[in-house]
Amino acid sequence: MRKLIPLLLVAMMLHVSSNAQTTENVALMDKRVVVLDAGHGGPRPGKCVGKVREADINLAVAKAVKASLNSRMPDLEVYLTRDDDTALHADRNVDNKLRAEFANKRGSDLLLSIHANAADSPKVCGSEVWVLSLDEDTLRQNRKNAGSFVDTGEMMLVENISKSSMGYIIALTNQMTNDPFNNTFARLADAEFKSLKRHSRGVKYNDWTVLYWLEGPGALVELGFMTNADELAYMTSDKGVKELGEALASSIIKFVESLDKMQSYTYSTDVETSAESSIEQKPAESKPADSAKESAKESVKEPAKESVKEPAKESVKEGTKEAAKEGYAIQLLSSRTELSTDDTQFKVYRGRVVMLQGSGSYKYKYCLAGYATAAEARADLQEVRKHFADAYVVRYSNGSIAK
Ligand SMILES: [Zn+2]
Repeated sequence: MRKLIPLLLVAMMLHVSSNAQTTENVALMDKRVVVLDAGHGGPRPGKCVGKVREADINLAVAKAVKASLNSRMPDLEVYLTRDDDTALHADRNVDNKLRAEFANKRGSDLLLSIHANAADSPKVCGSEVWVLSLDEDTLRQNRKNAGSFVDTGEMMLVENISKSSMGYIIALTNQMTNDPFNNTFARLADAEFKSLKRHSRGVKYNDWTVLYWLEGPGALVELGFMTNADELAYMTSDKGVKELGEALASSIIKFVESLDKMQSYTYSTDVETSAESSIEQKPAESKPADSAKESAKESVKEPAKESVKEPAKESVKEGTKEAAKEGYAIQLLSSRTELSTDDTQFKVYRGRVVMLQGSGSYKYKYCLAGYATAAEARADLQEVRKHFADAYVVRYSNGSIAK
């Protein structure tokens, strides 16, 4: 819950301020990860109409989504839980859990499970997007109104699960955190389905096993009804597979872009907060205000190259050895994963940066460290910003960014 509230606040703020400040001060190595899950496979073909098997439709569309994402968003890491007609496990429940764990192991930003539907009446048609719910009333209501074939074997049946079991508590915590993201993606996917001028049956809620065990955001889509002749023809045609693949890829791209916007917004607020507390706050050992201003002015007047490169180089060496000490640093970029200080992303400062621990998901902060005062660090900032436009001054102690 504690994690959910700030995320919701950020989401709300994004709504009112779409021109939120963004920053490039984020490592390029942090790739977004999407997992595409073609439902069923192997001994479990899903629904079958004549010779057409649901597992084959799901796989064809999953591959089309991947192909579209690979060409339109090459930086995105896209995985398929299966890329041929196999199951992940002989037992259906284990199989579905393994699909979620496949995504969990890769730290996926989204899992999309792809299915096709069936109903008693051949008239029933349309796409559906399903989001995880663990609320029994919602689930009962949804199943009653589903009007389609609801395969209870694919569900957790939450009403039968012990509410004190560890699995349920973990699923509930994940669901509460991910719910806004799940719903955001579901609306995007539904909008893309509608753009294909096909009937949409909207966003629905269920306790699908594959979503239940998922740590990150996810959704399950039903592409259309295999029991409806027109939809079956569409889902098995090259045109249909391509269009469905493009549409789902579009919704994933929009979702990933909104995650990036949210992240950079959160990050830029973090920048403002830390800038305020570290630059404005005068440390006990800092120079008097006047002399600090003087030294800042001087270095600005001087040719920038001279004033920056030498002191920065020396102070970085100091910083590396004495990262435990207090001081000021210029933060170049932050990363979700640990980088080599020799990484090419550090440009002219390769091998000279120091990693400081920060908070949040971008907790590895790469800095030019070792400045005794904020003024000294600020004096170098102009030059550093020629290479890292969003660099800023931070205070640190004991190897961590200080608040
Ligand atoms: Zn299915």
